[in-house]
Amino acid sequence: MLEVRQLSVAYGQHPALQDVSLNVNAGEIVVILGANGAGKSTLLRAAAGVCEGHVDGDLLLDGAPLGGLGPDQIVERGVALVPEGRGIFGDLTVRENLILGAYARRARRDEATNLDRVMKLFPKLRERQGQIARTMSGGEQQMVAIGRAMMSAPQILMLDEPSLGLSPLLCKELFQNLRSVKALGIGVLLVEQNAKQSLAIADRGYLLENTRITHEDTAARLATDPAVQAAYLGAGSKPATTKTAAAKPVPPPDPAPAPKTVVAETASPPRVSADARAGLDIEDMVQKAAKQSAVRPVPTAPEVPADHLSAVLRDIEQAAAAARKRPGAVRKPRDTQSGRTGPAPRAVEKPPVIEIYRRPRVQVFRRSGGDFERDNDA
Ligand code: ATP
Repeated sequence: MLEVRQLSVAYGQHPALQDVSLNVNAGEIVVILGANGAGKSTLLRAAAGVCEGHVDGDLLLDGAPLGGLGPDQIVERGVALVPEGRGIFGDLTVRENLILGAYARRARRDEATNLDRVMKLFPKLRERQGQIARTMSGGEQQMVAIGRAMMSAPQILMLDEPSLGLSPLLCKELFQNLRSVKALGIGVLLVEQNAKQSLAIADRGYLLENTRITHEDTAARLATDPAVQAAYLGAGSKPATTKTAAAKPVPPPDPAPAPKTVVAETASPPRVSADARAGLDIEDMVQKAAKQSAVRPVPTAPEVPADHLSAVLRDIEQAAAAARKRPGAVRKPRDTQSGRTGPAPRAVEKPPVIEIYRRPRVQVFRRSGGDFERDNDA
């Protein structure tokens, strides 16, 4: 249904995709796995007609070319993108966001039906249709974004890392929802960092490495492929740039037939764990550390000559005596009965200076004759 043939994208001189070919059929989930910067988002953006780079190659939907069409025309043909970061209208309600998705002519007539379909798919959105979208949780906002794309009645739904920032529980819910989308006969092209869960729901997958597709297979086979496990599922070493790190290898979701095609333009090197590469064994290291601590002498305090100690004590006593003699030094009163010194009295503070306001003395003089005569003291 969606066919990408020898797609190349460059941002200026920088190639972001080179000769990428893939296809997505109706009612199929296809996942694209790749390290950061491999070109995954570029691929989706090029297919949606929103790529800023120079795009070369063929994009076809049911055999009809999409190349050269604007993003709105591509939506009209039936390809919808849920971008990374969702891109919902935060100040609008859930319902308003969804209705905006039905702006495409192909979807206007069936707006009510599609809205009902989306609400059935995400019952929470029905409950919250009057809520301002930005006040929804991350997972709920992702549902709004997917729901809005679904409102355009797409044949192909493309999602760019929809599980980003979601809790494990919400991720699980999200991937279940994508299964329901697939059940509606919609083809899903999924770019995901969560390789474990995306391979578990996908039918097929592609590995995109350094701008090129290096491997294609059924999701079941990819999930059990040692190279994929090492690179994307956290088993052994993985490329430094890869975001994915699930704990264990995943079991295959479905029994799978033999691989249809394997494109190996750049063969993946066999992955060896970092420990194995360095020849390290954790048991061995623990034993070595234990031996070292057993033979290492316990450090003791350095010996100090006795005469040095008494000289230091003498200095301290002299300094204390000098301090006591200093004028203003406070002496501890002696308990006359026991002869012991008591707690130090509070230092005698200087009495505070209290300023006294004095009425200014005003003298009034009256002219009398040629002389001034003092009248009174005010
Ligand atoms: P990630 O998993 O980190 O999102 P990605 O595989 O989706 O990575 P892309 O976003 O497609 O990678 O980017 C591929 C390459 O193209 C990167 O080197 C990136 O820096 C570059 N690139 C992407 N968009 C642009 C742009 N608008 N202008 C210039 N370079 C870009």
